[in-house]
Amino acid sequence: MDRSPLDNMPLVHIKNMNKVYQQGDISVNALADINLEFRKGEFTALVGPSGSGKTTLLNLIGALDKPSSGAIALGGQQLADLSRADLAELRLRKIGFIFQDYNLLPVLSALENVEYILLLQGVPAAERRSRADTALKQVGLDGCQQRRPAQLSGGQQQRVAIARAIAAEPLLVLADEPTANLDSETGAALIDTMLELNRNKGTTFIFSTHDEMIMRHATRIVRLKDGKIVEDIVHAIH
Ligand code: ADP
Ligand code: MG
Repeated sequence: MDRSPLDNMPLVHIKNMNKVYQQGDISVNALADINLEFRKGEFTALVGPSGSGKTTLLNLIGALDKPSSGAIALGGQQLADLSRADLAELRLRKIGFIFQDYNLLPVLSALENVEYILLLQGVPAAERRSRADTALKQVGLDGCQQRRPAQLSGGQQQRVAIARAIAAEPLLVLADEPTANLDSETGAALIDTMLELNRNKGTTFIFSTHDEMIMRHATRIVRLKDGKIVEDIVHAIH
């Protein structure tokens, strides 16, 4: 089988990265000297206590924020070399975000919320509708397509956000504590959905979690403490 040289390149390559937040006179070293690679198809949990830098790391990988020093590359492309417009395009086409503050649009139905990103990507209407519908079914929301966010529970809204992230078929999904507001059964079902996509489509996942049960499903666990990597374990494929 032909393999492109890109297959051997890490999808995400972080080199000597630091992130300092400045708040008046106080500076917080949120991430210190991070060196990390993620390969295509990895299913990685970022773990560590609150304040250890998990959200900061996800923001930086997703090009939502810039490092204070060091370099970060996605698919061999240095983020520092990209214009704002290029970064927006990269986020739209390559990355799916499942973040707490990536809210659903309240005036749109669940189906329209999922379709919206496909509209931005220029996917034709009929394909948009069918892909959005399939994604909602995949996350167990068949029958809820026409409901608006206010007519859905917190867990269901979170699943719409996941459907929205996966419908766009990104290379990389970044999820910040995706199961934090869910009961354990719904959380487990959601992780199953993510794993299925990981296995069937090769989608790479990097997600932060506090949840021991979810950590066990990860093929790799990167543990942060005070902005540093203190453990990086790759598990056998389950
Ligand atoms: P986690 O997601 O693991 O809880 P964060 O990445 O949110 O950790 O935070 C890492 C550190 O950076 C913490 O000390 C936090 O207080 C600080 N921090 C995060 N965001 C900001 C910000 N916008 N301004 C100042 N400090 C921040
Ligand atoms: Mg966080």
